Amino acid sequence: MPSNQHFTTAVKSVPYRGRFAPSPTGPLHFGSLVTALGSYLQARSQQGEWLLRMENIDPPREQAGAADAILRALDAYHLYWDGAVLYQSTRHEAYEAALMQLARNHDSFACGCSRKTIAARGGSHVYPGTCRDGLSPGEVPRTIRVRVPNRCETFIDTLQGPVKSNLQTDTGDFVVRRADGLYAYHLTVVVDDAAQGITDIVRGTDLLGSTPPQRYLQQCFGYPHPQYSHLPLAVNQQGQKLSKQNCATAIDIRHPGLTLCKALRFLGHPAPAGLQGADPARLLAWATANWDIKNVPRTAVICVNAENK
Ligand code: GLU
Repeated sequence: MPSNQHFTTAVKSVPYRGRFAPSPTGPLHFGSLVTALGSYLQARSQQGEWLLRMENIDPPREQAGAADAILRALDAYHLYWDGAVLYQSTRHEAYEAALMQLARNHDSFACGCSRKTIAARGGSHVYPGTCRDGLSPGEVPRTIRVRVPNRCETFIDTLQGPVKSNLQTDTGDFVVRRADGLYAYHLTVVVDDAAQGITDIVRGTDLLGSTPPQRYLQQCFGYPHPQYSHLPLAVNQQGQKLSKQNCATAIDIRHPGLTLCKALRFLGHPAPAGLQGADPARLLAWATANWDIKNVPRTAVICVNAENK
């Protein structure tokens, strides 16, 4: 497939509504700035809305002050969002109602397996369906899982092209309520994308494998499927995704013009010489007018650590 091939879908009648949905596990780093910028430009270049959702549903993984630091960084980069920020910590009732709906429709079941017992049984991370037909006597429910079909499905990603999957062999029945009682990412993201009326999701390719289970949940709930575009990942020289876990440095919000130029270059849209290091408002105006998602590279791009600053 030629690297610049891109995939179009039928023209939509609903106006474009995109979003950026960071988890406040650390400050914005270069990789998350790229996702924010790509989703912003894809929305604004189509006169669309761009919403912000703070995915603060996992207190043990949260870092104190990170949510506010992300908002400040987006402000410094003039990545202004529409409306109020949606905090997932305020959405427990909606997630609970969604779990009830799954249970009522027999789309979910209680599971007593731990990761250890699953690995011991199948030797892989794919859930083998152990508790689908009920727990053994005396077994304690640990998680809630969605019963997935044994069926091949394909969706067309704007950048990555056709993505095929069979949930039963790729993931198995996946968790929607975790053993620690927290709502799982697949559940919260699907419920909130629908509640916020998101038509288009632009995010990193690290989440490409999350899309088939999320599309399946959309089907269970009767929600429309958004269009997906998975952006290249910023990786270090070892090929690892830049993230807090591998010490990607927080972006420097004192020189937003320089970092924005790097992020634009990364996304296949280098700013013209006259705009190098210009202020964010001018850079974003140029980028919005010149944005074309088919010019974004499809695969991971190396970004040496010195450039993340
Ligand atoms: N909160 C997720 C993350 O920061 C992203 C969710 C999404 O874009 O679907 O990795």
